[in-house]
Amino acid sequence: MKTRASEVFDFLESIAPLHLQEKYDNSGLLIGSADQEVTVSIISLDCTEEVLDEAIAKGCNLIISHHPAIFYGLKKITGSNATERIVEKAIRHNLVIYAIHTNLDNTLTHGVNERIARRIGLDIDGILRPMVNTVDSTLGAGILGYFPTPLTELQFLHLLKDLMKTKVIRHTKLTHRTIQKVAICGGSGSFLLEDAIKAGVHALVTADFKYHNFFDAEAGLLACDIGHFESEQYTIHLLQELISGNFSTFAAHYTGINTNPVHYFI
Ligand SMILES: [Zn+2]
Repeated sequence: MKTRASEVFDFLESIAPLHLQEKYDNSGLLIGSADQEVTVSIISLDCTEEVLDEAIAKGCNLIISHHPAIFYGLKKITGSNATERIVEKAIRHNLVIYAIHTNLDNTLTHGVNERIARRIGLDIDGILRPMVNTVDSTLGAGILGYFPTPLTELQFLHLLKDLMKTKVIRHTKLTHRTIQKVAICGGSGSFLLEDAIKAGVHALVTADFKYHNFFDAEAGLLACDIGHFESEQYTIHLLQELISGNFSTFAAHYTGINTNPVHYFI
């Protein structure tokens, strides 16, 4: 039994259809042919040069990343930056490169945010900002959930730090709130701050908050920036489990490389 790359894509797109991706995004097949036969894949949050080298060393022929390897238009491929080198190397080594990004963010079932919510022990209550022009209430940005029993702010921060394996949490002032209703958005979720406040959540867990976002959040909720990579790191486990559960002739491994470009000097 042979597996074509298109069979893997069809399966992934049955969970997160490409039309759910944001306009600015570039999810889907980026390099290679959907007809190519694939036997082993590497799953990674970021498609870096190191991940390509890992794929080549391990004999993998498909890389599935959350963040697209190509995001902006390419006018030349001369190896002058990482993206150009990735394209060149992928083609030279017959690697198929695929991205499943905001289409997976915008999906509740098996999506990025569901994985985070389950990991920290929330009972899921739906999408935070439902997608416009759809009656499907399981599509949209961010997720809402409840802790079965309320936590103190410190209990909540400890839980987040432990379960999301983050070295540091940047957060708004502690005000002795009780934390039970929580909004989650893996990756850059400051655009959901107003929605989270309107939803009456006690806390918002996301990443990439800017200085002024913390002022905007302070009165309304406990905003927690746990780091972009940290918030999405379990997405590769999610994808690996989904693919492994569906294919017997095609293996999926997640990368052994920590692709987080952010380092902490503590
Ligand atoms: Zn991201």
